[in-house]
Amino acid sequence: MEIIRIPRIMQDTSGGHILHGRTVGFVPTMGALHEGHLSLVRRSKQENDITVVSIFVNPIQFGPTEDFREYPRDIDGDTGKLGNEEVDVLFMPDAPLMYPEGFSTRVVVDRISERLCGPFRPGHFSGVATVVAKLLNIVKPARAYFGQKDFQQTLVIKQFVKDLDMDMDIVVCPTIRERDGLAMSSRNVYLEKSQRVAAAVIYRTLTEASELIKSGIIDGVYIRELLRNRLLKEPFVSGLDYAGVYDPLTLDELPEIKGDALLAVAVKIGDTRLIDNMLVNAVKGR
Ligand code: AMP
Repeated sequence: MEIIRIPRIMQDTSGGHILHGRTVGFVPTMGALHEGHLSLVRRSKQENDITVVSIFVNPIQFGPTEDFREYPRDIDGDTGKLGNEEVDVLFMPDAPLMYPEGFSTRVVVDRISERLCGPFRPGHFSGVATVVAKLLNIVKPARAYFGQKDFQQTLVIKQFVKDLDMDMDIVVCPTIRERDGLAMSSRNVYLEKSQRVAAAVIYRTLTEASELIKSGIIDGVYIRELLRNRLLKEPFVSGLDYAGVYDPLTLDELPEIKGDALLAVAVKIGDTRLIDNMLVNAVKGR
């Protein structure tokens, strides 16, 4: 596995592959890799000649009170896992090369960024959109892979890729879960043992709501209240940023569930903020 730290060299390496007619697949991450990340890597390996994975803990997507400093980092573990998956290139740029003196551009996606996590994490999605736009311009993939776990993020990325005429496919892959249903996340290591057990309430609650919708309940307000009540009843849940049923294209809240719907929640367990979601179709029953 080739390890590249300099954006210009990454750009030239990708350019060389493209010139030779090879397709490049790209998996951007912040490291502390788990099976969720590796599922994206495997999908990219299946669909492309060359797979590039990036590890970059992006400072501009963290708020001043968020966990940029504490964010889990495990470069040795990550390198081993990516080596085992036979990844071709690991791109690990240093922050000053991504944001040199004088850097002054931001990618801001209106509307979608203002929903769900938007009000609770000001500036987060423009931080994500800016770094992902830079990474896509550096790696120049034919396809880039993202997890449904961060559903709002996938909408933000698809939107700027379309609006800015970037010629690549954005592929969204299913959420990989622990045995009790908790969505895998690098932040799960923050949970103490009892908090970790309690966190299973998130998947249990989403599943219950999804089953109710499939069984014919179309009242979005009823489902929202059910989600809220179930989550807040769990003693280890210390806060609820949002929980509800949303249009999966616009993220507007759905008072009535007629077709595709997104169940989405952001829950605090102790100081750890966890998000999860589930797509459901009221008519097709899936
Ligand atoms: P992160 O390192 O948390 O920024 O995540 C990098 C990529 O992995 C993003 O596209 C995430 O949506 C995706 N990802 C994170 N957790 C999971 C998971 N449990 N299942 C599938 N994809 C995931």
